[in-house]
Amino acid sequence: MTDESSIADRLAHVTARIRAAAVRAGRPPDSVALLPVSKTFGEEAIREAVRLGVHRFGENKVQEIRTKHEILADCNIDWVMIGHLQTNKAKDVARLAAEVQSLDRMELAVALDKRLQHEGRSIDVLVQIKTSTEPSKYGLPPDELPAFLRSITRDTPTLRVRGLMTMAINIDSQDAVRACFRTLRELRDRTQHEGIDGVDLGRLSMGMSGDFEIAIEEGSTEVRIGTAIFGGRIYGDAYYWPEKTPR
Ligand SMILES: *Cc1c(COP(=O)(O)O)cnc(C)c1O
Repeated sequence: MTDESSIADRLAHVTARIRAAAVRAGRPPDSVALLPVSKTFGEEAIREAVRLGVHRFGENKVQEIRTKHEILADCNIDWVMIGHLQTNKAKDVARLAAEVQSLDRMELAVALDKRLQHEGRSIDVLVQIKTSTEPSKYGLPPDELPAFLRSITRDTPTLRVRGLMTMAINIDSQDAVRACFRTLRELRDRTQHEGIDGVDLGRLSMGMSGDFEIAIEEGSTEVRIGTAIFGGRIYGDAYYWPEKTPR
């Protein structure tokens, strides 16, 4: 795919690669869902994707969901929050997001639940897990998951836990990336085995443009893809992960 390729070409190409990776991993071709990530991309790109049948988009900033929710109100889009979420933004998320994949601490769960109760809504959530050794990656430490899930089911009834999410370490080593995905799947299997009441961890959201085929081999049920569909972002990754800016 070149820079001149259309969103339609790229979407078809990514979809074909997802299906092929699933088949290579011995799984049904439609067992991996695609969440297109529209962060930094504008109204026209999103409308184009909507015309191609996409109705669910990942965003990583609440302010951007707010703006896009307004200008694309006619499109009936489900906005999925995938980025680090400050507790003081819970109100807008409770109002505008269809789902949150970046739930990583109890303080945030409690804030979201309070606002969701106020809105009379409940939403699906994935718990974001820190599977990498990078000091600043967000996410709940894996060993805290069982206790966290017990608190969620007891104290925050508007949050329906559906699975886990992670971002792999951002380095060139395929082995290190694979280890992150494997950590998430094994954590899920162990935790599911414990059988916490009311918790279903069927979904594993892992894999991005650069690593989704590895994630699918390790059991991903949902890949979050931005640049491979929409093209290069105006802002580099450092804008979204300021902690990674070289010092
Ligand atoms: C930006 C982002 C993605 C998509 O990244 P690409 O490399 O553009 O595919 C996936 N997940 C999260 C949490 C993101 O912030």
